[in-house]
Amino acid sequence: KVSAMVIDGKSVAEDIQDKLTVEISRMKNKFGVVPGLAVILVGDRKDSASYVHNKKEACESVGINSYEVCLPQDCREEELLMHISSFNDDPSVHGILVQLPLPSHMNERNILNAVCIEKDVDGLHPLNIGRLAMSGREPLFLPCTPKGCIELLHRYNVDIKGKNAVVIGRSNIVGMPAALLLQREDASVSVVHSRTKNPEEITKQADIIISAAGKPNMVRGSWIKPGAVLIDVGINPVEDSTDPRGYRMVGDICYEEACKIASAITPVPGGVGPMTIAMLLLNTVTSAKRIHNCN
Ligand code: NDP
Repeated sequence: KVSAMVIDGKSVAEDIQDKLTVEISRMKNKFGVVPGLAVILVGDRKDSASYVHNKKEACESVGINSYEVCLPQDCREEELLMHISSFNDDPSVHGILVQLPLPSHMNERNILNAVCIEKDVDGLHPLNIGRLAMSGREPLFLPCTPKGCIELLHRYNVDIKGKNAVVIGRSNIVGMPAALLLQREDASVSVVHSRTKNPEEITKQADIIISAAGKPNMVRGSWIKPGAVLIDVGINPVEDSTDPRGYRMVGDICYEEACKIASAITPVPGGVGPMTIAMLLLNTVTSAKRIHNCN
């Protein structure tokens, strides 16, 4: 049986982080500049806390200064805005990330608007997304997860130009910008979402699938065109009594079935997840270089 090549996001991310470590020490020695990332966490969601922890650790490992603010679940929007504003003005901070989702009493739009676009390393400010959507405009930053997906396709020499690509999901954070990025790469892009009828008929045409639906094992073998390249963004907990935690993480794509049909696939974990963090670090370094004019 033919088995798909595994796209090893973990090792690509490590390679990127190794190069960043060297670059950051060069910036420090030559220009006295140390990139800084501020991460703001509101509330007590365990998954968010662990993402923030991972980001902080990754910063330390490459030599980026990290500044963390943790605010209580019932914190007022004004207080969060005040922290964002002080990071906007802080010259040692080059990137500001507000961990999403925010508690329901907060207006996500106001918050994302408040991050100055020069420090919007998550690439989620409407001006950055707007530029991404318009031809002839360049966003200052690309959103980390979609950027990581495209980087994996490049690293594995996957042709994108002229190919049929299908994105599953249309969220502001992943699906929508992933579709825009694929289109910039000259793919012909279709988007599948929760209201799409017969999604398998659309995915079956895809040379490339980026799946970000958040539905465990939704994409079955029968949904996949032979030889397709599959990028699985989904991180979904499923019960597993053999795991000491009682659960394990799976993607949106049924890995066992897909492996027999696709030409390449990202595993979960170890695929897109580590790339998201690597892209965040890269965006932060790019930002520090741009702000201090050091190249
Ligand atoms: P959202 O819940 O915001 O969006 C999910 C999208 O998938 C929506 O557009 C929704 O459609 C669509 N969708 C839901 N169910 C179906 C279905 N049955 N068929 C087709 N489309 C469907 O999630 P996110 O975009 O934030 O995240 C998606 C997944 O990616 C999650 O598992 C998340 O944990 C993971 N993730 C992973 C990251 C990483 O670094 N690897 C980073 C960020 C997220 P509709 O718009 O109609 O509701």
